[in-house]
Amino acid sequence: VATMNTQVISAHEDGAIAQAVEHLISGQLVAVPTETVYGLAANAADDIAVQQIYTVKGRPSHNPLICHVSDAAMTERYVDVNETALKIMAAFWPGPLTLVLPKLQNANIPTTVTANLKTLAVRCPQTDFTRQMIETLGHPIAAPSANPSGKLSPTRATDVVEGLGGKIPLVIDGGATDVGIESTIIGVQGNKLTLLRPGTITADDITEHTGFPVFDRADETITAPGQLLSHYAPDAAVRLNASKANDSETLIGFGNVAAAINLSSSGDLNEAAKNLFACLRAADAKNTGRIAVAPIPMHGVGIAINDRLKRAAAPRDNG
Ligand code: AMP
Ligand code: MG
Repeated sequence: VATMNTQVISAHEDGAIAQAVEHLISGQLVAVPTETVYGLAANAADDIAVQQIYTVKGRPSHNPLICHVSDAAMTERYVDVNETALKIMAAFWPGPLTLVLPKLQNANIPTTVTANLKTLAVRCPQTDFTRQMIETLGHPIAAPSANPSGKLSPTRATDVVEGLGGKIPLVIDGGATDVGIESTIIGVQGNKLTLLRPGTITADDITEHTGFPVFDRADETITAPGQLLSHYAPDAAVRLNASKANDSETLIGFGNVAAAINLSSSGDLNEAAKNLFACLRAADAKNTGRIAVAPIPMHGVGIAINDRLKRAAAPRDNG
């Protein structure tokens, strides 16, 4: 990708939505804030623009992208929304929850978005700027996290510029993201619900609203970056469940395990999720080459945090 000037503008600036939409219509990429992490958006109907996402991120082509929609009505133009999916959408949208649903045969979505799958992942983001941008565009955007594939996810506009500056023309700055980790992904096949990626909306939350159990993903062969073992990786090696730092380690604290860099000194799991990637970046910036992370309880939102940490700590031999 040729080096270009990367412009950063505030989401609250006059005309920001129009400028972002113009970029999307003309086939260019725009990094946008969402409540989870920053997304790298392309017009989902534009095959060439979607290919650019893979190129710019260095993302393997067999890993499907999530489409972001402005509402349920837009969703129904692209996927088969059954009663169970509707219930989930009514309860959790807009919000950090993605549904994988059967793609309609006449849906104008290039195969590059779905990596040839017959299903499509859809989500309605909470951040006003991005939802209104999609509404103005009139159809979905494809938007994975706005970072080089496999690296730490971006929760601030500066993180996006650090990873993708010079490779994309426009970044919309909406401040630090609220949720801080990627959306929960639920596969819906009839009434069978499968947790494809944990997030801050838990499997129990979904069951409470639908009455249906949520199965764990048994098939580890699904090929998608968030599901590869090494992902969300800082430059430093990562050791988990550490009660204190060993020589040369930078400690990330939580609750009782105190440290200069802390996910949540009060032990609040939602706060820890919000701070997770910024803490990993801050620890990486210490350049000690090793990061140790305090234990995070394995319940509620802790399941999603431990999922990201496990991948951050995984061996990097797959590049
Ligand atoms: P990202 O956009 O980087 O947060 O990652 C998107 C994730 O969505 C991928 O890693 C997959 O796990 C998941 N995904 C997207 N589309 C599908 C699909 N059609 N079927 C199953 N999982 C999907
Ligand atoms: Mg990602």
